[in-house]
Amino acid sequence: MAPNPSRKRQSRRGAAQSGMSLSMENGIHYHLPETVSEAVGLLARHGAAARALAGGTDLVPALKLGILGARHLVSLRRVPGLRDIALDGDRDVVIGALATLRAVATSPLVEHACAALAEAAGRTGSPLLRNRGTLGGNVCLDTRCWYFNQSEAWRASRDRCQKAGGARCHVNERENRCVALFSADTPAALMVAGARVELAGPSGMRWIGIEALYSGEGRAPLALAPGEIVTRIRIPKPLAGWRTAYVKHAVRESIDFPILGVAAGVELAPDGTIHAARVAVTGARSAPVRLPEVENAVGGRRLADVGDGDLARIATRALGPLFLSDAVPHKRLLAGLMTVDALARAAGEDSGRRRS
Ligand SMILES: Cc1cc2nc3c(=O)[nH]c(=O)nc-3n(C[C@H](O)[C@H](O)[C@H](O)COP(=O)(O)OP(=O)(O)OC[C@H]3O[C@@H](n4cnc5c(N)ncnc54)[C@H](O)[C@@H]3O)c2cc1C
Ligand code: SF4
Repeated sequence: MAPNPSRKRQSRRGAAQSGMSLSMENGIHYHLPETVSEAVGLLARHGAAARALAGGTDLVPALKLGILGARHLVSLRRVPGLRDIALDGDRDVVIGALATLRAVATSPLVEHACAALAEAAGRTGSPLLRNRGTLGGNVCLDTRCWYFNQSEAWRASRDRCQKAGGARCHVNERENRCVALFSADTPAALMVAGARVELAGPSGMRWIGIEALYSGEGRAPLALAPGEIVTRIRIPKPLAGWRTAYVKHAVRESIDFPILGVAAGVELAPDGTIHAARVAVTGARSAPVRLPEVENAVGGRRLADVGDGDLARIATRALGPLFLSDAVPHKRLLAGLMTVDALARAAGEDSGRRRS
């Protein structure tokens, strides 16, 4: 994406009051706002033609391949204060949306507040991707599908599917509804942490629970109002005895999206009784999902008193039918095994259980 030098000079002259904009030879307009309100204003103005740009590790390859057709990229990198990871008083950990995955993975504050999040961030992509990719970009990742994540030339060779602007879904032909998978690593861990997300939009700021960020709709997986962006993520101070873990299964050990990721959190009594549990799964549906049936099944009991087989069956049933484009027929079975593993690791009882 080579910038057009003459436009670049013109834009720089007007950059004293506000962030600059560059027009590329390929027709993409690159905006560098310097405040949140300027960023959301640009996103709202350009609507569906615009995308927020954080680390660009997912967005830029998607644009190069022609998977996405955005013409306006609104970079958040000059907006101040969005990279910090800090304690709010002595309580919650607040993470800026532009904090890199590496910073999240290596932060002692994050490790203390939610080890599963540090683990999930540290298992995302590769060192290079974690150095550049951000937590906000991970949380806001688009859904993926074998029929959609292909070059424009590949997609043009057959009927376009719904997510690519056509009428049909090639995966879920019976219901003809997009079921593309949400496969980002960190959101399941954030759900287990009970995280809240700060959104900034043209009409101001608001905080929502992380679960409310997801629409469950494969074509538009984020429940954001026009122009809204994620600015900060808040992890509540963990209760005494609260422990978490994240388990990921991918085809390769690194540089690979999860086939499935399971995060678990347990509030453990000294005798090993689980007072409360949270379990969340990524890679199975168009949004990361909690498994309340599993959480209820282990609540008030010691993990050792719940059979692994029963627990795995409850998890598999809780996940319900899956629609898959990625030909992984054993995914339901895997969900059961990984749920057992994640809970066992959170409870510090991982010996003898299956590791993914
Ligand atoms: C080879 C490869 C392997 C990968 N492996 C993994 C993996 O194992 N696990 C995984 O989870 N991901 C993986 N990814 C995807 C990606 O690298 C990460 O998800 C990364 O965290 C994305 O962050 P980013 O800052 O680069 O986002 P960008 O690419 O900049 O943006 C991603 C999406 O989020 C939106 N967005 C970004 N920031 C915000 C914000 N603050 N508010 C609203 N919307 C926003 C963008 O508009 C875009 O739609 C992989 C990518 C590649 C290329
Ligand atoms: S699930 Fe269907 S509509 Fe959605 S991306 Fe895949 S083929 Fe397209």
